[in-house]
Parts: sequence; structure tokens; C-alpha cells
Amino acid sequence: MNIHEYQAKQLFEKFGVASPKGIVASTAAEAGAAAREIGQAGLVVKAQIHAGGRGKGTFKNGFKGGVHVINTPEEAEDIAGKMLGQTLVTHQTGPEGKLVSKVLIAKSVNIKKEYYFAILFDRVSSSHAIIASTEGGMNIEEVAEKTPEKITKEFINPAIGLQGYQCRKLAASLNLRGALMNQAVKLFTALWNLYLKSDCSLVEINPLSVTDDDQLVALDAKFNFDDNSLYRQKDVTAMRDTTEEDPREVAASEYGLNYIGLDGNIACLVNGAGLAMSTMDIIKFHGGEPANFLDVGGGATKEQVTAAFKIILGDPNVKGILVNIFGGIMDCNIIATGIIAAAQEVSLSIPLVVRLEGNNVEAGKATLASSGLKITSASDLTDAAQKIVAAVNG
Ligand code: GDP
Ligand code: MN
Repeated sequence: MNIHEYQAKQLFEKFGVASPKGIVASTAAEAGAAAREIGQAGLVVKAQIHAGGRGKGTFKNGFKGGVHVINTPEEAEDIAGKMLGQTLVTHQTGPEGKLVSKVLIAKSVNIKKEYYFAILFDRVSSSHAIIASTEGGMNIEEVAEKTPEKITKEFINPAIGLQGYQCRKLAASLNLRGALMNQAVKLFTALWNLYLKSDCSLVEINPLSVTDDDQLVALDAKFNFDDNSLYRQKDVTAMRDTTEEDPREVAASEYGLNYIGLDGNIACLVNGAGLAMSTMDIIKFHGGEPANFLDVGGGATKEQVTAAFKIILGDPNVKGILVNIFGGIMDCNIIATGIIAAAQEVSLSIPLVVRLEGNNVEAGKATLASSGLKITSASDLTDAAQKIVAAVNG
């Protein structure tokens, strides 16, 4: 799960991470009022979307930049009016862009130097890692590729947490000395506490900045949260903005289905993430393009299978469905009954290939065969993939 920058600022405040004061606005008038409340010249108006690269982005109406430094409430109103209700395209949104329905009005600072700072979960070392760089405000992947020596990595032992010496080492690598080092230790520690206590998998500050009056502040924030921990993160869950998410993925999460939309035309309905991955692979191997990843889990019910069919068919690109179920814990006959009920309920009219294997498979196949529905049965993965690709590609 992700959150908006204005929500990240609320977490910054709670955990004591230094960051300029900001107020969120949904209308141009609110933006003007927010600017008056902050009450100073030197403000920044920032489009709120779940994507980075806003500063260099362009709105579909031609207006340039999702981040503008301004001075007066009138300007705040004017700029907010040009952003709200418009679609912002950045290198992270894809060409379709993202609709801006909120803007952040924040105190602007004069930047002396920009840094990159991130805390993330690192699978390779099975620990948390901090990545810091003197090359702030830039695309970190590019820095990693062209000037890897400008990136410092520090691993955090999950049992003992971030240590003071590690903060000082990181600060020194950014050339933050004296009073700035003390600020850095405080800020890094506060961010670490935020990251750990909020079950984040990523906190990225780009840029972390030193201002002209030598204050170290977080000027941007990208957060990812571990979805498996949301049950114990009530405050974080309350920040979820489902309008920023793929509506099919939102619907899937309501039914406990793992769904990820893709660009192809062959929908897959599979039990188990590993089997789902290999199903997608074998579809591609035989010349098809998967329309989604969909794992209905080990104990799929008829309701889940029906919901899955509806989500799949909500995608106009879908020209055929491949159901690949391995009846381990599941009884194939129950799955077959669920598939038939779902196909009838949604009046399925596109090719459906079903491969069942495992527990009670003969009864399951017999149920499908006697349903009277146009379902193609497949004997194994290859047979299934070839049949659905042939049906879709004609
Ligand atoms: P992003 O483009 O989505 O990553 O959005 P950022 O929040 O990082 O803003 C883009 C750029 O705008 C930053 O890299 C900064 O250089 C600049 N910026 C952001 N906030 C301020 C501010 O308060 N004052 C000034 N002068 N520039 C800012
Ligand atoms: Mn940024």
C-alpha cells in the first residue's frame, strides 16, 4: 500500500522527522486559504498522486510541472486551479497519467544541497538497508548505474536496530558535519522508528535537503507499506486511497484474491502463486499474452471463483480464460462446480479452457463435461496453454 505526500507529512510529524509545514487542499479556494494560513512568502504547490517525478511531469492540458514554488495566496489559487481535476503524466505514471484531486501547499525552503535517503527491506541480506547519496533530487537508478561510488549502503541488523555509529557514518558519507551531523542522526533515527513501527517496506526521501539556514529537512516522501501488516496498522490503513489503485485490484482484495492486471488478452485463474507464475510463463512460451496474474488461493470458494470471473471479464482486452487448478487441498469437483456456477452467472461467451489435476479430478472433469457449457478440457499445462492460445489467436 502507498500513501500521499501530505499523509506522509502527518507521519513525519508524529515521529519527529523534520519537514516543512504543509496543508492539503481539494479546491483552488482551499489552496488559497492554506497559503494564507501558512502565512509567508515562499510556498510550494505540489500535485498529490501516487507517483514520483512530479516536478518534471506535464499535465495533459499542457501545463508544465506538478511542483511549483510560488509567493502569494493568489498564485496558490491559480496554480492549484491548473492542477486540480487534471491528469499529470510523469516518467512513473505511464502515458495514461494520474488524475490530481488534491494538492499540498507547503512552506518552501531555499535549498543549499539535495541528498537521497531511503530505508528499505533488503531480501538479499535478509535485513533492512539504508541507501544514501549526495546525488539528491535525481533518479537513483541512474546514479546507481553511472556513479555507483556516490551511493552508500548500510545494513541494519533487525535484532538490534539502527545504531548511532551507523547514523554518523552515513552522515559523514554525505559530508554532513558538526551541527548538521547531529541533525542527521536525529532525523535518520526518527525515520527508522517511523519505518519500523509503521511496518514500511520502503521510505524514500528524495530530496533530503540542507536549507540556506542550515536545517536538514525531508522535502519529499515515498512510502510503501507491507500489506500483510495492515491488520495491525489502523492509522495507516485509514490513509488508503483506493482511487489511486487499479479498480480491478481493489475488487480482488475485497474477495481475498491476489490479482495483478497485465496488458495481454488471455486471463488466468489459478490456485497458488507459483502455479500462477508458471501458467503465465507457459502462455507466453506458446505465443500468447497473459491479461493478468490471479491467484485464488488454496481454499477458493464458489463466491471467490465467481468474483474472479467478474474481475477478469471487466477487462475489455480479455479474449479467453485459462483456468489451471491443482487440487491438492482442494477437491477438483468443488472447483468444477464453482466454475460452472460462475460461468452461468456471468453468461460467459468467450473461450474457456480448464485444466484440473489432483484430488477427485475424474469427478471434476465429469461435472464440467455434463454441464452443457462450452468448456474445453485440457490434460496438462502444455495442452492447456496451446488450446487457449489457439482459441484466442484463431
Ligand atoms: P517529485 O518530482 O515527484 O520527486 O517531487 P519532489 O517533492 O521531489 O519535488 C521535485 C523538486 O522540486 C525537488 O527535487 C526539489 O528540487 C524541488 N522542491 C521541492 N520542494 C521544494 C521547496 O520547498 N523549495 C524549493 N525551492 N524547491 C523545492
Ligand atoms: Mn522527489
